[in-house]
Amino acid sequence: MRQLTFEPTLPYDLSLTLTPSFISSLFIHKSGTWIKVRGILDGLVVWQEDGGIFCKYSMKLDERYVKRLLGIHMPPFECRIDFHDQRLNDVLRGLASVYPGLRISSSPLDFSWIFTAVVLSRRADYEKLVLRWCTSIARITGNNPWLLLNLSRNLILSRIGSSYQILNLLDSLNSLRLILTEELGLSSDDPDELYVASQKLSECDPWRLRQLLLRCKYVGPKVADAVILTATGLSSFAPVDVHLVRVSRRLKVLAPDVSMMPRKELCLSFTCHSCPSRGECIRGYLMRKLGDLFGWYQTLTYLHGHLICKSLRPYCRICPLKALCPENK
Ligand code: SF4
Ligand code: SF4
Repeated sequence: MRQLTFEPTLPYDLSLTLTPSFISSLFIHKSGTWIKVRGILDGLVVWQEDGGIFCKYSMKLDERYVKRLLGIHMPPFECRIDFHDQRLNDVLRGLASVYPGLRISSSPLDFSWIFTAVVLSRRADYEKLVLRWCTSIARITGNNPWLLLNLSRNLILSRIGSSYQILNLLDSLNSLRLILTEELGLSSDDPDELYVASQKLSECDPWRLRQLLLRCKYVGPKVADAVILTATGLSSFAPVDVHLVRVSRRLKVLAPDVSMMPRKELCLSFTCHSCPSRGECIRGYLMRKLGDLFGWYQTLTYLHGHLICKSLRPYCRICPLKALCPENK
């Protein structure tokens, strides 16, 4: 076993970084240790101790890739909170103090698995269902989700489950296969070649990648942005989910007239820089306001919305942000 040790600039928290990310679907997590069980660096063992990050693997590790996977290739986002908008600075500092050390983890070479986990997560419980489905898919495909397209539906339904998300995944994978073969010049639809070709998607221009993904069945702006954030680590791309909208609204990060959810028909034709609705669209507005802190902010709001600022009964009494929250006055 080879061992690598990193001493990232603090704050850094391995579990806060991996848990809310779709990258966690590639790991199992046992008593503070993360073991990569799918895709690139399968078998990598990672843990955090006394501020250091320790990695064990059977072969020599690509240090740069591991740093990216763990989100320690860049300095903490906390150092970059310096906007003209003082309210935004206060909210970001407040959220960062509740969830310190959260970074953005990414893995371009795991594109197929990331796409699979994100598509499966549409209206499905991530912890209870998506992680279990990913494990079953890995088991019956020998770790290549593209192989699903070659298996019988009956086998898939009996071995993975009969939820509509699984059937939708087959359609999404099939449309991504058509894009890879008919438009991006892949000459074969062999599952191994599809796996390798999809890794290259992470290198595309991200706006082009967004539009390609949006042409897949059951892929809307939220899914496309989550895939891009997780596969490329580009933190100016982030999914507009219910937690982002609710927490941003309650903390008055969104201007009152910014209420439009991303619209697929517009996203297919424009980037958020050129879109005629960028002033009223939540994604266009937050991306322009936050730049490449957008993905970090979205992940912080995801955690806060999930744990404390709940939809029906937010835990305002114990919320560490109550002093700066207008909702709590
Ligand atoms: S600003 Fe336009 S392109 Fe960007 S997410 Fe909104 S609708 Fe889509
Ligand atoms: S005080 Fe209440 S409404 Fe405000 S952020 Fe906290 S939980 Fe949400």
